[in-house]
Amino acid sequence: MTLPRFAASSYDFTEYVPARNWIGGAWREAAGTPASQPVPNPRWGRPMSTVQLSGAADVDAAVAAARAAFPAWRDLPIRDRAQVLYRTRELLMRDLVELSWLVSHENGKIYSEAEAEVLKAIECLEYGCSLPNLATGSELEVSRGVTCGLTYEPLGVVAGVVPFNFPLMVPMWMLPQALVGGNAFLLKPSERVPLSAMRLAELFAEAGLPAGIFSLVQGGRETVEALCDHPGIEALGFVGSTRVARAVYARACAAGKRALCLGGAKNHLILVPDADPDVAVENIVASFTGCAGQRCMAASVLLAVGEPAEIDPLLGRIAKRAAAIRLGSEMGPIATAAAAERITKAIANAAANGARVVVDGRGRLPDGAEGAVGAERVGPAAGWWVGPTILDGVDPASEAGCEEIFGPVLSVVRVATLDEALRIEGANPYGNAATVYTTSGDVARRVMGSAEAGMCGVNVGVPVPREPFGFGGWNDSCFGHGNITGWDGYRFWTRQRKITTKWALQRDANWMS
Ligand code: NAD
Repeated sequence: MTLPRFAASSYDFTEYVPARNWIGGAWREAAGTPASQPVPNPRWGRPMSTVQLSGAADVDAAVAAARAAFPAWRDLPIRDRAQVLYRTRELLMRDLVELSWLVSHENGKIYSEAEAEVLKAIECLEYGCSLPNLATGSELEVSRGVTCGLTYEPLGVVAGVVPFNFPLMVPMWMLPQALVGGNAFLLKPSERVPLSAMRLAELFAEAGLPAGIFSLVQGGRETVEALCDHPGIEALGFVGSTRVARAVYARACAAGKRALCLGGAKNHLILVPDADPDVAVENIVASFTGCAGQRCMAASVLLAVGEPAEIDPLLGRIAKRAAAIRLGSEMGPIATAAAAERITKAIANAAANGARVVVDGRGRLPDGAEGAVGAERVGPAAGWWVGPTILDGVDPASEAGCEEIFGPVLSVVRVATLDEALRIEGANPYGNAATVYTTSGDVARRVMGSAEAGMCGVNVGVPVPREPFGFGGWNDSCFGHGNITGWDGYRFWTRQRKITTKWALQRDANWMS
């Protein structure tokens, strides 16, 4: 099977081939009589493909193919392994438009967001390309004629499990370091978005990655559990919700694996009255509406500091800007019908708990503006839409104040002082992102010094660290140690061999040699 090139340079509905496993360099049906489920295009609310849900036998077949391919890949010099990534990078650039449309169709995000995702995936790949210049190990003469050295070596067969919201970028948080490090990698895409990873498999093959070094095992919970339990898999990277991250971390560790599991988030933005209004308004709206709020770095709680007279003009501008966002062309749909319903219910619950719905996205549909689906096709059955929503006067202890909603909803919590804002931010169990909008260096320094978040921003609504700084949160947003990208990623997917060498004549011996 050769995958169709996704040529549709518009949001029109297009069907795609059924999602399959990629094992040993070939497309494979899942074993037995696998369950399968539709892969919807969220903009249209109807299936563009189907995906088979793999079981333990499929994981076993992928591990066997990976183990067979591993020794030859491990034995290549790191520069040769990196060359495959250089070529993959060229292919991703060549196919940037096609891949962006594929991401846009299966995930729902608008084209420009999908293109930004592919470009960020490429940036991660470039970090992998640079590893031969970084992963030099070390050596020191520790005594006369005696040296100690350190080298980084692959673990063997490793696996990654990824969420629906970044079908290409999140896999690229793991793959470059793991592959350049010399491992064979099994990827389990989200069953919601199994298609972009299939094109990636083809592109890796075109770039010359040996068969078996990259495999795709499509599926859901059962597949993930089989990956956790398989004794032939040495390490597992996971990105998804906190509930699942916690369970997967425990299961993988119990099976003796190295694990790093990134979870969900409830990100706090602190707005103080001295903020630059233009920067704050654009940034805050982009942060909670980008990717329809379906990203783990999205703004979720806005801690508005100060008296109403000081802060209300800023909040008014934020509400006006958010209400003007055009669905379809400026903001995409929600990934599933169930998620759209969950978000809608969370808005209703907040209103019932006393929050004021200042901007209400419930029931909104694309408005037929440029790039939106055609007006004749718009209707409740044609996709899952919730518009930007702002809740004011939210109780920080309520669902909207402390739980992840994962939609375009901003909960405004009013506080009198910066200390109160920091207390609320610190009390939340998650720890991905925190940002402050201010023109005061002192305020910025205080927030950066005490926020309980692994990724912080000053006047930056989505403070994703660019490579090589490494992506990773704290607290309930991350189980395991370190960041998943950057140098930590390389450390995670490799193990260190310490080598002590003695080429000393007896006359050079001392107390330790
Ligand atoms: P999810 O947790 O439902 O699914 C993630 C992966 O786990 C998928 O591949 C899925 O098939 C698998 N899975 C689902 N249920 C499982 C179970 N019971 N046992 C084992 N595996 C299971 O997450 P999602 O809905 O795909 O993605 C959205 C979530 O991911 C949000 O919570 C978001 O904050 C989080 N996320 C976090 C980061 C981060 O870097 N911290 C990045 C992106 C997304």
